[in-house]
This record gives sequence, structure tokens and C-alpha cells, in this order.
Amino acid sequence: MAEEETTVEAPVSVVKKKEAKGKKIRTKRPTSKKWSFYKVEGGKVSKSRKSCPKCGQATFLASHKNRESCGKCGYTVFKTSQKPVVEAKPESTPEPVKQQ
Ligand SMILES: [Zn+2]
Repeated sequence: MAEEETTVEAPVSVVKKKEAKGKKIRTKRPTSKKWSFYKVEGGKVSKSRKSCPKCGQATFLASHKNRESCGKCGYTVFKTSQKPVVEAKPESTPEPVKQQ
């Protein structure tokens, strides 16, 4: 009776690959400061920023110098100055068409 020698070879390469994959390294991202836009005063919640009409109440508009924009959908509201800018274009008289 010839006994077969069973050699157990550990798949070293597979183990190494598993170690290489591992867990994904989480990249540090700045946390959302949406909570800072809410203010609780006397049991009532007030918002310091305007909310986007397209995205809903939970999405706030970022305040810039001359505009407020939504970072989600791109909705932009331009802050109009106190003086409403109205470009009064002088009505150009149509040139009379010469009939031949
Ligand atoms: Zn939006």
C-alpha cells in the first residue's frame, strides 16, 4: 500500500492579495455644517439661511456677496441692490421702408 503524500500548500499569493485589498481608507471630508443654519429660540426653530425652492426646505442657499446659490441644483438668486436696475432702452424708431 503506497500512501499518497498529501502536501498542503497554502496559497500564499491569495493571502497576500487579501491583505493588500483590506478595508478602504476613508478620506477625511469636512463635515456638513447644516446644523449651524438652524437656531432655536424660545422653543421655536428659525433659519438663518434661505432654503432652496427646488430642492426643499432642508437645502440651504449659500450666501455670496451678490447672490445666493444652491450647491445642489444651481439655483441662484441675485441680491438686488436698493436701487432697482432698470435698463431703459430708448425706443428706436423703425426705419421707414421705402416703396419703390
Ligand atoms: Zn437647489
